[in-house]
Amino acid sequence: MCGIVGYTGFRQAYPVVLKGLKRLEYRGYDSSGVAMVQPDGLALLKKKGKVAELEEFAIGKNLASQICIGHTRWATHGEPSDRNAHPHLSQSGEIAMIHNGIIENYAPIKAELIKKGYTFNSDTDTEVLLNFIDDIKKENACTLEEAVRIALKRIVGAYCILLVHKDDPETIIAARKGSPLVIGIGKGEHFLASDASPIIEYTKEVVYVNDYEIAIIKPDELILKNLGNEKQTPFVQKLDMELAAIEKGGYPHFMLKEIFEQPQTIFDCLRGRLLPQENNIILSGIDKYAAEITAANRIIIIACGTSWHAGLVAEYIIEELCRIPVEVEYASEFRYRNPIVQKGDVIIAISQSGETADTLVAIENAKEKGAIILGVVNVVGSSIARLSHAGAYTHAGHEIGVASTKAFTGQLAVLMMMAFKLGYAKGTISQERFTQLSQELSTVPEKVAKVLEQDDAVKAIALKYADARDFLYLGRGYNFPIALEGALKLKEISYIHAEGYPAAEMKHGPIALVDEHLPVVFVATKDSFHEKVVSNMQEIKARKGKIISIITEGDEVSPTLSDDVIVLPAIDEIIAPLINVIPLQLLSYHIGIAKGLDVDKPRNLAKSVTVE
Ligand code: GLU
Repeated sequence: MCGIVGYTGFRQAYPVVLKGLKRLEYRGYDSSGVAMVQPDGLALLKKKGKVAELEEFAIGKNLASQICIGHTRWATHGEPSDRNAHPHLSQSGEIAMIHNGIIENYAPIKAELIKKGYTFNSDTDTEVLLNFIDDIKKENACTLEEAVRIALKRIVGAYCILLVHKDDPETIIAARKGSPLVIGIGKGEHFLASDASPIIEYTKEVVYVNDYEIAIIKPDELILKNLGNEKQTPFVQKLDMELAAIEKGGYPHFMLKEIFEQPQTIFDCLRGRLLPQENNIILSGIDKYAAEITAANRIIIIACGTSWHAGLVAEYIIEELCRIPVEVEYASEFRYRNPIVQKGDVIIAISQSGETADTLVAIENAKEKGAIILGVVNVVGSSIARLSHAGAYTHAGHEIGVASTKAFTGQLAVLMMMAFKLGYAKGTISQERFTQLSQELSTVPEKVAKVLEQDDAVKAIALKYADARDFLYLGRGYNFPIALEGALKLKEISYIHAEGYPAAEMKHGPIALVDEHLPVVFVATKDSFHEKVVSNMQEIKARKGKIISIITEGDEVSPTLSDDVIVLPAIDEIIAPLINVIPLQLLSYHIGIAKGLDVDKPRNLAKSVTVE
C-alpha cells in the first residue's frame, strides 16, 4: 500500500512529485505529504486526506527545490491524521523519510530509542525506523547511506523508503524489501515511484529495484548496492506503457472506463495465445513446464480478494476439464498454517499487482518446498512475476480503480486458457471439446461489448435499489464465485452490506434475512444447474424478497419470478463467468454513484495490498 514518488534533477521537483502522487493515489489516500531540500533546510508539507487537500494547503508556500520526496498513505500504524502523515522528520531535524510497508520489530527499537531520550511526534512505525537511522548515523559518525544499511540489517518487515538530508540538495537514498520501487532514468534527472505511472511521461528507461538493494540517486548518477555494500549493475528496462492508458479518456471515473475497456483487454489477453483455427493455445511461459503441470498431483491456487474469486472459478474448471484436484487458498491463511506442500504440487498465484504481500510470502514458502510456481499477474515485472517459475500475464493494462474489474476478467481469461490447454494435453477433454471451448472463448470480447450496451438498463435497476441496507447474491456451480465477486464489488463501492452464497446453501442460514426489503441478485444463466437455481428463486419469491436476475437470452421462466432481469448472450457454462460478472460490476458502480460515493477511491481500501 501507499504511493511513493521522488525526483532529483534540473526541474522544479514539487510539481513532478505532486502529479505523480495523484497517479498513485489508488494505492492509498489517508494523507499525503512532501519534503524538499531548500537552502535553509528541509521543508515539509503534509495533510490528512487526499492529494487535492495537500495541493490546496501548499498554495502560497515556498515550493522551490530541485529535489523532493512525496507520499500518499494507507495507514497501518496510527490513524489517518496530519501528524501521522509522511514524510517524517528525524529528531535531529536533519533527515526526512517516507515509507511504504510495515516495520514489524518497531516496538523494541522504539523502546531502545526512548531510553536514549528520543521522543516521537507520530504513532507510526516509520518514525521509529527514521530515528533509528538518525541515531546510528550519529553514533557511528557515518554517512546517511551507511546508517541506512546498518539499520536495515536489523529491520524485520517490509519497506520501501526514500530519504533526503538537509545538507544534500542532490541525493535521494532509497531502499526496498517487499514493497515496490521503480527508478526512471532521464538526462540529468532521476524519478522514483512505487509504479511506473508517474514516470512514463518523462522517460521510458527504468530500473526495478530488487529486495535488499539500496539506491543512491543524484541527478547524473545512480548507484545500486546490496546490503553488503557491494555495487550491483542496474538492469535497465524499457517501459511499454503509454500515458493515455492511465488517463480517464472521457469517462467520469476510472472504474467505469475500466469496465468499458473489457472487450479490448480480454481481446488483448487472448490475442496470439488462443488460436482456435490451429487447434492450439500458446502460453509460452507455461509451455516449458507443461510436462510437470500435466503430471501434477494437485494444484493449489493462492490469492486474496477478487483474485481469490478468480481462483475459485478456476478450481471448478480445472477439476472438470483436467481431473486434477485443486485447492483454493487465501494467501494470508496459507502462509501461516504450515500447509502440506510437496514436490509435484503446482501452485498458481493470482494477483493483479503482483506485489500482494501475503501471496508473495506464501509462494516463497511453497517454492522452498519444491512446488512449481505459476504466476497469473497483471503488472509486468512485478515481484510475483519475477519469483514464479513461469506464468502468464493478464495484459489488462494499468488498473487504477481500486475495485478490480478488468484485471479480474483478464485473470479468468488466462485461467480458462490454462485449463483448456492442460485438459487437452492430458487427454481429459477431446479435441472437439477443446476446439469448441476455444472458439467460444474467442467470442467473449464481442459478447462483453453486447452486455455493456445494457448499461442504461443496469443503471435503472441500480437506482431502484440504491437505498437497500443489505443485498444477497446467489449462484451455483461456476456462477457461485461470481455471486461472491458481485457481493464483494458492492461492499467495496457502495458500503452496502452484501453476502455472496451458493444458491442452495442459502437455506442453511441467510434465508432468515429475506423479507420484502431484501434485494437478491441471482446469477442464473443457463447451465447444468439452471432448474435448481430456478427452484431457489421460487424460495426467495415465496418469502417476498426482491429478485434481480442475470439470465440467458431465451429463458422464459426466470423473468416470471423476477422483479428485474438482465439478459445476457448465450455461451458455454464454463466460459459464462467471464460475461456474467460484467452486469454485477456495472450494478455496483451505479449504486456507488447514486449514493454520491468516490467509486475510484472507496474508503479504507487500497489497490495493491503490500502489507500483511
Ligand atoms: N506503516 C506506515 C504507516 O502507517 C506506512 C504505511 C504505508 O505503506 O502507507 O504510516
